[in-house]
Order: sequence, then C-alpha cells, then structure tokens
Amino acid sequence: MTEYRITCIPGDGIGPEIMAAAKVVVAATGVPIEWMDVEAGADVVDKYGTPLPDSVIDSIRETKVAIKGPVTTPVGSGFRSVNVALRKALDLYANLRPAVSIPGVQSRYEGVDLVIVRENTEDLYAGIERMADPDTAESIKRITRRGSERIARFAFDYARHEGRRKVTAVHKANIMKLSDGLFLDVSRQVAESYPDIEFEDRIVDNMCMQLVQKPELYDVLLCPNLYGDIISDLCAGLVGGLGVAPGANIGEGIAVFEPVHGSAPKYAGLDKADPTALILSAVLMLSHLGEPGAAHVVFQAVRAVIGRGQRVTYDLGGTSGTKDMGEAIAEEVARLI
Ligand code: NAD
Repeated sequence: MTEYRITCIPGDGIGPEIMAAAKVVVAATGVPIEWMDVEAGADVVDKYGTPLPDSVIDSIRETKVAIKGPVTTPVGSGFRSVNVALRKALDLYANLRPAVSIPGVQSRYEGVDLVIVRENTEDLYAGIERMADPDTAESIKRITRRGSERIARFAFDYARHEGRRKVTAVHKANIMKLSDGLFLDVSRQVAESYPDIEFEDRIVDNMCMQLVQKPELYDVLLCPNLYGDIISDLCAGLVGGLGVAPGANIGEGIAVFEPVHGSAPKYAGLDKADPTALILSAVLMLSHLGEPGAAHVVFQAVRAVIGRGQRVTYDLGGTSGTKDMGEAIAEEVARLI
C-alpha cells in the first residue's frame, strides 16, 4: 500500500486539539500516512519572526497535500493573514466548501447536499482599492478569462468526478455586464464541453432567496470570489453552522484541506471544540488522495456518532470533549471498516 506523505499544520487556538482528534480518526482507517508536522500561526512569531515560515510552503510544495487547522490572524501586528498568504504563495485558486445535512445537527433544513466552488484569487476580494480623493474610495473588481475558465473547469470536473448532476453559475451580469458578464460567458463556454452535466445560471440575489426557500434544487454552485464567500456561509448556516463546515483550497497539483471556522481562542486548551469540520476536511483529503472507501467510512462514522448524540461536543448538544468525540468517531470507523 502506498504511504502518503502529508504536511500537517495544526495551527493555533483550538487547532492542535482538533488536529489530534482528526489524526486518531484517519489512523483508524488504516490508510498509511506519514505526517510532516510544520508550525504556523500566532504562536510561532517569536520563534521565526513570521506566522508563516518558508518551511511550511516548502513542505507543501514537496508533499502536494496538506491538512491545516485554523490560524489566528494577529490583529494590528503588521502580519497579513497566514491563510491568504498560503493561498497566494501556492496559487490555490479553487475553494471547495460542501454543505451537507447531518442528522442530529440542529438546523432548519433536512436533506441539504450542496457544494460551493468559489474562485479564490480575483474579484473584489483581491482588495485592490484606492482613495480617488479624500472623500471617495474605489475598489477594483478584476475578473479574467483565465481565472474564470480554470474555476469553471474545476467545478465541472469536480461534478463529473463526484457523480453530481448540475452546475449553477452565480453572478450579477445584468448589472456588472463586463466583469460578471465575462465570468458567465466563460462558464457557458466551458459547460459546452460537459454535456453530461446540466448547466444553469442564477443572479446572486435570486440565488440567496432560492437557497433559503428550496436548497434541494441545487447541487454544485460555481461562484466568483466575493459571492462565493457570502454564499458559502449562507450554505453553512443551512446545515447547522461553522462547527460542521469543511473546506479545501486547491491549485494545480496541490491541495490544502481545512475547516471553514477559525481558531476560537476562547476554547483553546479546554478540550471543548467540535472536531467535526476538520474531520470532514480529512474526508475531502482522503477522497482527493484516491481513497474513496476510507473517505466514505469516515463520513458514515461522523454521521453515526452525531446521530446518536451521545459522545458529542457542547455545540451538538453533548457534554463530551474534543478528544472523546474524536475517539468515538475513530471507534466507529474501526467498526465499519
Ligand atoms: P471562529 O470561527 O474562530 O469563531 C466563531 C464562533 O464559533 C466562536 O463563538 C467560536 O467559539 C465558535 N467556534 C468556531 N469553531 C468552533 C468549533 N470547532 N467548535 C466549537 N465552537 C467553534 O471565528 P473568529 O472568532 O472570527 O476568529 C478567530 C480567529 O480565527 C481570528 O484570528 C481569525 O482571523 C481566525 N480565522 C482563521 C481561519 C483559518 O485559519 N482558516 C478562518 C477564520 C478565522
């Protein structure tokens, strides 16, 4: 069996605790992994003079796959966000965020099964801004054919690989005819090469209303950066919130898997945080590695433990700690495998 080498960034805050739980779960699958542990985040600034040492980027360039816990962005320290810096350094242009209902997780909806594919490098989110004069601020919305084409191809390839039926492009091309118009045109052109996948588009405001009213109509949502940022939080809300929202940042031949949530400093070191979002990020990682069987088993184990509602953390209505919930999921994996 191939042994995978994977860069592991536990992060800070609750990161190390949820990472320890996720590793116990992955170990239970029997997929052989050599973890290359590297440090990043607020806690390493004194040691390396930066929250993102070069050794982290070098390790990911070498292993091609990383799993990452949340990292605190030090406020007012002059350091930029580790997360944004990583995405830039490795050109991780696709942000993948599944939003899937898990029985037992409190939510207003059942049966939601959506995936948001968000462009990660351009759009208003790139933060290209200037003061035109002291009373006028401007922000540039930059959309390119290359950026739109590679994210659209990613969405269709993902849909095909995962057996999904439909891609919906999200835009406001009725108003931003050039920028969102280009994104939509390119999405339409790319769709022609995937006749097996249905394609449609929605204007972003209508998309928000439709998602709240009938999320079951949608499947893969293809979004430019800013709409993707907003819609993915909306969709996380449809399935019970941040504690259960996994994610991945993917570039050419490189992928970094991480939960959507942050470092929750108030729970750091207390064995309280919910490890689910990181464990579900590990499910995406196993699938990416070409281990769909192990990925499926871990997902089923998460569903079983949350469904029983006993050994789960406070946010899921339980009294267990991070470690115990991780062990409960690992035991379930061992039973299912
Ligand atoms: P947060 O996600 O850390 O916390 C938001 C709320 O959700 C808090 O009440 C928190 O306690 C709770 N929460 C989050 N994850 C949880 C979990 N696994 N289990 C139980 N409760 C959980 O967001 P924030 O407070 O805005 O950010 C804190 C820090 O994290 C900031 O420095 C921010 O920059 C950073 N951050 C990092 C990432 C990342 O590394 N990808 C993402 C978002 C925020």
